[in-house]
Amino acid sequence: MIVVLSRGISSHDKEMICAFLRERGFTLREQSLGDDEIIGAAGKAASDIQELALLPGVERVAATSKPFELASRETKNDDSIVTVGPVKIGGSRISIIAGPCAVESREQILETAERVRESGAVILRGGAFKPRTSPYAFQGLGMKGLEYMKAAGEALSMPIVTEVVSPERADQMKDLTDMFQIGARNMQNFELLKKVGALGKPVLLKRGPSATIEEWLLSAEYLLASGTRDVVLCERGIRTFETYTRNTLDISAIPVIKRLSHLPVIVDPSHAVGIRGMVSAAGLAAIAAGADGLTVEVHPEPDAALSDGPQSLYPSQFERLMRDIEALAPVVGKELLRTPHTTIPSCSGPDSRFPGAAEPPEGNLPLSGRIAFSGESGAYAEQALMRAFGEDAPRLACPSFSRLFDAVLDGSAGFGVVPVENSLAGSIHENYDLFLRYPDIAMVGELKLRIVHCLIAHETASLDTIRVVRSHSQGFVQCKDFLDKYPWRLEPCYNTAAAVASILKESASDRPAIAAIAGEAAARAHGLTVLKEGIETNPLNYTRFVIIARRNNGDAAPVPPSMGSGRSDKASLVFSVPDKPGSLVACLKIMSDREINMIKLESRPIQGQPWRYLFYVDVSLPKTGGEFNAALEELKTKTEDFHFLGAYRGAL
Ligand code: PEP
Ligand code: MN
Repeated sequence: MIVVLSRGISSHDKEMICAFLRERGFTLREQSLGDDEIIGAAGKAASDIQELALLPGVERVAATSKPFELASRETKNDDSIVTVGPVKIGGSRISIIAGPCAVESREQILETAERVRESGAVILRGGAFKPRTSPYAFQGLGMKGLEYMKAAGEALSMPIVTEVVSPERADQMKDLTDMFQIGARNMQNFELLKKVGALGKPVLLKRGPSATIEEWLLSAEYLLASGTRDVVLCERGIRTFETYTRNTLDISAIPVIKRLSHLPVIVDPSHAVGIRGMVSAAGLAAIAAGADGLTVEVHPEPDAALSDGPQSLYPSQFERLMRDIEALAPVVGKELLRTPHTTIPSCSGPDSRFPGAAEPPEGNLPLSGRIAFSGESGAYAEQALMRAFGEDAPRLACPSFSRLFDAVLDGSAGFGVVPVENSLAGSIHENYDLFLRYPDIAMVGELKLRIVHCLIAHETASLDTIRVVRSHSQGFVQCKDFLDKYPWRLEPCYNTAAAVASILKESASDRPAIAAIAGEAAARAHGLTVLKEGIETNPLNYTRFVIIARRNNGDAAPVPPSMGSGRSDKASLVFSVPDKPGSLVACLKIMSDREINMIKLESRPIQGQPWRYLFYVDVSLPKTGGEFNAALEELKTKTEDFHFLGAYRGAL
């Protein structure tokens, strides 16, 4: 049984709770679970939970039916987010760990680190102590290998994870690694679990080749009970009768873990299948099944690897896998967490070639740490914000898009998250217009969010009682086929989550007649019920959000850390052309002559100027910035009204 204590509980109240439990024969341990302080009460004694829950200082009592109490979702319903240095694992992000099976030399680990980081891996892996099946196989470089790895991690600003094989080594390794890995063979080495758990560092716990999910979670329980709060589970294939692959990837373990536990779960497709050509397929399947990330073996020269070469990806294969994960992520409602952009001499430096383009965040952070979005709690824009900046990012809810732009301009928010286009309903002109009105605001990042609309109502409502449906007008357009089946009156609101909130402002007798179309998060945020999920006409329904920031003195704007990996590869422009034959062709030719690929061209009427049009253009940036800058200069001479909205790293 777990007793979660109220924040700021007095020592007297805590003592009373402990006395209550001890008198009833429980043995107690005090510890933390996430941000909560808890008392774990073990033993066969019975207690009147209702009486216990009434004691001052008791936030709640969780009497779980599972033997793994701390790891159980019954004890903690929210997904745990594990922090490894600057990297977070869990929640709505996908975090990728990559590196060689074993550290083989200073050069090998550094080169691998550079390659995997370039592709977007956020944590560097590598074994210094290798538990090998044969005593004659390469056993790892030991502490020397760990030192090489630490140096590579520091050089590339990547936290590192490495396997610890014995309790005796753990102390020695503690200051050199950011995360301990407990290998599959040691999953039930309880002395090792207790020792490593007590060091309080994040732990990556692999599943034993023959361990049941419950045994695996009990091993996680050892770690949590010993003191660490940061445990990530790793499915790496189990032993079955099948011999074609090295192990059998237990894909179903992912949804099972998600149901049973709040801990993040990642997958190691390399050890699961053991065959290079199949690693990426298994990794993508894991992401599709809901894994919070992967750990992947990558080697610059797999054929020369001292261990696990046949399953190690070439860096180019890893790059391809990362791109595929990025494309898949929105389908499962997640965002690929990229390497935070820090200045690395050997990688891309500040991308100041383009006005408003990528600059590393150091020394150039915006005034406020807050991120602005338009709408109320549970809005899609808030989901996008959390994807880009993390669940706990401080945020500023704005009542309109123009107030959002104002907030970024006056510095009360460092960044803003703005929807610009939906894959079903098209461009959101209102926001394009704002970019023209606010020339000091630049686009600095992009992400795509899959939009799954729900019909949301009060618990007293049903499909039969509804008369009115509220949503943003885009919500109505995207759910047209569903709405056409009902005689409901549609009432547009400025934001989908605001439509949900408005239901609660109605009198109790009116509530059954009103519903809203919004995301499931909005229903949760306002305590309302989802009557029907997935009512959008086409499930391939994505909204493109851009991250905005203020240009510094009309110059470059800062880039959010999670969006700055690599160089900017996309830019957005808006312009009008003179009213004469060939003027648009002349503009397009400027780009085609320089082999600049145009990925969007849309025209729309200019307000107040009948039959005149603005063109929205998105382009892929060429590798050489000079080409693009020259194209921009030339475009300015051929257009009438020219706006450079920003250059950024595009989302797939
Ligand atoms: C490893 O990650 O290098 C490793 C040895 O994995 P496992 O413990 O899953 O076999
Ligand atoms: Mn390996």
